[in-house]
Amino acid sequence: MIHIENLQKVYEDIPGHVPAIQQIHLQINRGEIFGIIGHSGAGKSTLLRCVNLLERPSSGTIQIDGEEMTRLDSRQLQAKRRKIGMIFQHFNLLSSSTVAENIAFPLKLAGMEQAKIQARIQELLDLVGLQEHANKYPNQLSGGQKQRVGIARALANHPDILLCDEATSALDPQTTKAILALLLDINQKLGITILLITHEMQVIRAICDRVAVMEKGLIVETGKVLDVFLKPQHPVTKDFVGQVSDFSTSSGNDQGIIQSDRHGTLIRITYIGEQTYEPILFETVKSTNVSFAILQGTISSMKSVPYGQLVVELTGGHQEEIASVIAKLEQEGIDVEVLTP
Ligand code: ADP
Repeated sequence: MIHIENLQKVYEDIPGHVPAIQQIHLQINRGEIFGIIGHSGAGKSTLLRCVNLLERPSSGTIQIDGEEMTRLDSRQLQAKRRKIGMIFQHFNLLSSSTVAENIAFPLKLAGMEQAKIQARIQELLDLVGLQEHANKYPNQLSGGQKQRVGIARALANHPDILLCDEATSALDPQTTKAILALLLDINQKLGITILLITHEMQVIRAICDRVAVMEKGLIVETGKVLDVFLKPQHPVTKDFVGQVSDFSTSSGNDQGIIQSDRHGTLIRITYIGEQTYEPILFETVKSTNVSFAILQGTISSMKSVPYGQLVVELTGGHQEEIASVIAKLEQEGIDVEVLTP
């Protein structure tokens, strides 16, 4: 769907000037929700804006459905952009236009006739849950409602792709959840491919299928969200995973337990999917001399996949018996990390 190769953007063409993004290779599949995460200045916005050519890349290629974006003339680009909606952190609504007029704007630009515009506005208001607010002005709306208008406007011309530029960063946690749920719903109902940028791992965890981590203009890690959470490789990724306080990795926010005066073998086990609700640990140690104490535990979900994490102390039995319990857990497909040296 979106195929990016060796993309580079240098804002100032001065020798020695560091590119805002470089060596960017990405393949985003139709229907997926792809997240790009990074700290401020990492190059996320630049990359996102290159996709619809709001920024023109200095070199490299961006193909959307096989069509090379940088080769389109201005008329072709305009038509292509109609199929790429975009929403923004600060909503970018027309303040002197009503909700309905804001939504009508891209439809008028596309030359749709008035009667059809009215019908389409109603559909979009229904989709984003703003039926009651058609005649209000942006300053009469909450942040969440403003973003709903932004989403309705972005979807007006039935785009195939929705670009989200820190779409929830100006919203409180409750409103963020509601807007993310709406984006997920739109992705599932309409099959729209979503490319979002954020600095919040919570956003990635809530709705993304895959994620790329950016640092200093480069993609330093990419993969399925679950894999990146479980086995972050790059220090920046580990930092971001650490943001999600109920999730721990080898970068660890359970150092306190590890360093405490425990005599058994400490392990961290991670269950994914239906396993989360099964008594696998109990079943595994039942017929052995090994017993366990749960020192820390959490159950949560990543997108719609449940996962559980436990830090467990294994005691009793010989070392071999403990090793065999760990091996059995791994055979069950559970991720086991031994924490004691
Ligand atoms: P992020 O979205 O991750 O915060 P940006 O893409 O906005 O990162 O910025 C990446 C780098 O490019 C930063 O060093 C930033 O200062 C620079 N930059 C961004 N936009 C411009 C611009 N219009 N002109 C010059 N430099 C820019």
